[in-house]
Order: sequence, then structure tokens, then C-alpha cells
Amino acid sequence: MAEWDYEVFWKEMMSQIRTELGEQEFSIWFINLEYVRAAEKSITAAVPSAFYRDQIKSRYQNLIENKLKELTGKELTIEFEVVPRDKAADVQKIPEALPNNPEKVPVSGKNAPEAAAVPAGTAEKKARHPQLREDYIFDKYVIGENNSFAANAALAIGKNPGTAYNPFLIYGGVGLGKTHLMQAIGNYIHTNSESKIIYTTAENFTNEFTQSIKENRMPAFKNKYRYVDVLLIDDIHFLESKSGTQEELFYTFDALYDAKKQIVFTCDRPVSELKNLTDRLRSRFERGLNVDLQPPNYETRCAILKKKIEARNTSIPDEVIALVSKNVSTNIRDLEAALTKLMAYTELVGKNITVEIAQQQLKDVFASPRQTNMSIETIQRVIAESYGLTINDLKGPKRNTNIILARQLAMYIAREITEYSTTELGQAFGGRDHTTVMHSCQKIGESIRVNPTMDSTIESLKRAIKEYNAKS
Ligand code: ADP
Ligand code: MG
Repeated sequence: MAEWDYEVFWKEMMSQIRTELGEQEFSIWFINLEYVRAAEKSITAAVPSAFYRDQIKSRYQNLIENKLKELTGKELTIEFEVVPRDKAADVQKIPEALPNNPEKVPVSGKNAPEAAAVPAGTAEKKARHPQLREDYIFDKYVIGENNSFAANAALAIGKNPGTAYNPFLIYGGVGLGKTHLMQAIGNYIHTNSESKIIYTTAENFTNEFTQSIKENRMPAFKNKYRYVDVLLIDDIHFLESKSGTQEELFYTFDALYDAKKQIVFTCDRPVSELKNLTDRLRSRFERGLNVDLQPPNYETRCAILKKKIEARNTSIPDEVIALVSKNVSTNIRDLEAALTKLMAYTELVGKNITVEIAQQQLKDVFASPRQTNMSIETIQRVIAESYGLTINDLKGPKRNTNIILARQLAMYIAREITEYSTTELGQAFGGRDHTTVMHSCQKIGESIRVNPTMDSTIESLKRAIKEYNAKS
């Protein structure tokens, strides 16, 4: 036995984590994590991709290290080594990059994962799928930190429907790209296989269901939905309070799931926040992989605009792209609408777009309450209220545990959803130093990693802040 052999501890750690996280989460993130070797102060584990490594690091590094410390009594750090798995055994691998993200596509060579290659534009083009939009494909989906997890998981599903993550549920606010991503999965599978795919909205599904009952055509309805390879149902929040449709969907789900057919849903909020949903359907929705889409940050907004401009075969000066990206921060649909307005102007007036023209043409859009920048005070107010405190508590010097937590959360969230610098934020929190703000953000970042409920706490605070902002 080597001097630094921690494999028994490793196994024990894995089994404890399995119990703590539950099968679902464990099978996504830990199944592919393998013990490789140990040194005096570190353990090296193999992971199948850089994407996977980054996800594990940000989510579980602390958990793993804390467990190892409990078990071995030593401060061991964990290091990761990316070892792409044998392609033959490659069922669950999440590729590093999507085809449309050239800077991240690994250079070709014999070790370059095939996963990232664009499917060759082979001879005859297959007819488009009747329910899917032709332009909702991975190639046109810009990846940023707000959506990389969802997008990579979606591509993994496109490559291995029914096996990778089933069901797959994408949630997030309006205009953030749920439908595009869902249809991209459908289009990808449609292009690369003979699978039978149905895309529908929950509203359509409901209408069809009620119509079938009325017209005594239930067997046809059941046949249609229970014998597909891929079922994509958009906007399931529509099913709130629709108990009949919920029941039917429940049976449809089980039939497909048992037959290992891929099911994908989208929803405008986490399933846990849907009201009047039967527990059994809720548990089905939550069973596979649930991922959220966040609003894109400034860089991603610029990248999306560039892509859309390219697709329309025109060009717009970089300063204008920057101006629009800075002022339209809600979602991608609004970003596209702003662009459409500018394009219409150039076409009709025949002038090139300048910053002045853009400012003039989009002044209403920029000034709309949805776009006006979130104030730090709004964030402070909502968080103070949520924790039963006052804004002055957050700004003042008190050091009670709950005040410290609320203050740190407020700084963290302000840093995330506004463009203020740490110096400006420090100023707004009672004239604190910018290092205090950085320290707070770091603290919250750490607790997100060790405390599984922190993420959802932050998400619901952010939602409350946005709602407050929209109303005020
Ligand atoms: P949702 O279903 O979440 O309301 P959609 O999928 O309809 O949002 O997206 C709104 C618009 O934004 C669509 O035109 C879509 O193509 C575009 N879009 C969303 N996300 C992206 C992205 N990451 N890259 C490029 N376009 C996007
Ligand atoms: Mg949609």
C-alpha cells in the first residue's frame, strides 16, 4: 500500500455524500468522479470534462474537502484531472462546448472529443419538423455563464435522448431562451435520427385533451402522446389548477418514462413554486434534471446582439451594440425587439445607425421601467424586509448573525444584478470599504457551495427584488 493511500476514505466519503444528496443529485455529479491517486496533502480525482470539473468545483469542492477532513482528520485538498472517457462508453458525458461556440471548441486532433463537432452538412437535407422553428437550433444559441449549464445539458440530451437526463426541465423568466433551447433539442434529434418527436405547449396539450374527451377520441389522443420517442412540452406552468390535464399528463409521463423515451419540459418558475399541482406530477417533474436560465450579463448580451446582427446580414457599430446591451438588460426578447426597431429605422430611412440615432430611436425602450437600473436601495429594502430588519440595520455597524447574513446577501445580490462597483456598493452600505464588499461576496459564495438551500434562498430573494422593482 502506498504511503498516501486514501482510497478507503474516499469510498466512505462517496457513500456518505450519496446518502446526503440522494440518488438523483449523486448520479448526476458523483458517478463519474473517480479516485486516481493521493499525495501527502491532496487527492486527485478524474472527471470526464472541463465543464464537469468546473461544475463540481463550484458546487461540491467544499463538501468533499470537509468530508475528507472529518474522515481522515487531515486538511486534504481535492484536485481534478480531466480524463475524457472512452467514446464507446460515452453515454452521459456533457460536451465541453456547443458547435456554435468556436472559441471553446477543442482543436481537432486525435484526442479532440467528437462531441463538439458540428454535424456535417450531409448530402440531402431532411425536411423540417412541422412543429419546430427552423432557426431554434444550437448553432444560433449563444452561450454565456447564465445558460451554459442548461445549454450543455440540452446538447447532451440531443446526443443521447432518453439516457442522459430524463426528464429534463428548463425553468426561468420570460424571454430567456427556454423555448429556443427546448426546440434546439428537438431539431438536433430530428436532424440526426428518425425519432418521432412531438413539440407542444401545455396549453395546446390541454385543449387537445378536453377536445378529445368531448368528441370521444381519447384512444387517439393516448396513442398520439404515449408512442413518441421525444415529447417536448413547453410552459407547464399553464397546468396550474388543471387537474384533469395533470392526471392525463401523469399517465403519459409514466408510459414514456418507463419506455425510456425523452421528456422535456419548460416552466416559468421552479416546480416547487407551482400552485395547485398534484404531488405525484410534481415529483415527476422534479425527478430528472431541473436547470434554470438566468438573465444574460452584459458581455453575453453583446454576444447575442452580434450573433443576431450577423444573422440578418448587416452590421451595426460596436458602440451601438454596447449602448443597447447596457440599456436593455431584462431578457433576450427585449434585446431582439430593440434590434428590430433599429433595423426597421435603417431600412426605412436609409441611414446608417449611429449612437445618436440609436439613443433617439430607443429612448422609450431605455426609459421603460423594466429597463431602468435597479437601485441599491431597492435591493436593501427587499432584503431588509425579508429578514425583518430595516435598511439602517444593513447600513449600520450591528453584528448580530442575522444582520450580518442579510447584509452579506444584499451585497452579493447587488453585485450580481447591478453594474455598481464594489467601491460604490461599499459606499451605499454605510460607507464601508470595497474589501468588505468583496469579503461578503466571497462568504456567500462559500456558503452556496456548502449549503444546498442557499442557492434557492438567493433566487427567491432576487425574484422578490425584481417584482418589487417592476411595481415601483
Ligand atoms: P422563453 O421561451 O424563455 O420565453 P424564447 O426561447 O422564446 O424565450 O427566447 C426569446 C428570444 O430570444 C428568441 O427569439 C430566442 O431565439 C432568443 N434567444 C434566447 N436565448 C438566446 C441565446 N442564448 N442566444 C441567442 N438567442 C437567444
Ligand atoms: Mg417560451
